[in-house]
Amino acid sequence: MAECLFCRIIARKAPGRIIYEDEHCVALEDINPQAPVHILVIPKRHVDSMTQVTAADGELMAHLLLIVNRMAKEKKIIDRGYRTVINTGSAGGQSVYHLHLHLLGGRPMHWPPG
Ligand code: AMP
Ligand code: ZN
Repeated sequence: MAECLFCRIIARKAPGRIIYEDEHCVALEDINPQAPVHILVIPKRHVDSMTQVTAADGELMAHLLLIVNRMAKEKKIIDRGYRTVINTGSAGGQSVYHLHLHLLGGRPMHWPPG
């Protein structure tokens, strides 16, 4: 099976603005930002979507959330607030089938989302 887009970006086989990396994940500037700050936190291990996450992934999921927090701090939006989104499946608006957390901030967010 061909590697997915995010696997290719993580492996530096496709271009991407990676602003953070550790053993378990990367943080990538979204190519089509929907807010002044729009970062994707992506596990290095390929997981299709939230529907594939199991209890065994608990530590990984906690780590991804902590990295969202860390990126929000680095982008200086932690005090104002920000939004974390995981689109899941077609009705959830997922377009890239490699799990990722959106960090959106730098402007007021609306509710309900579209
Ligand atoms: P989702 O719709 O939740 O699956 O989110 C996929 C996100 O990936 C969208 O916000 C896209 O703008 C973003 N995206 C797609 N291709 C790239 C890329 N090459 N580099 C960075 N972000 C991308
Ligand atoms: Zn992948």
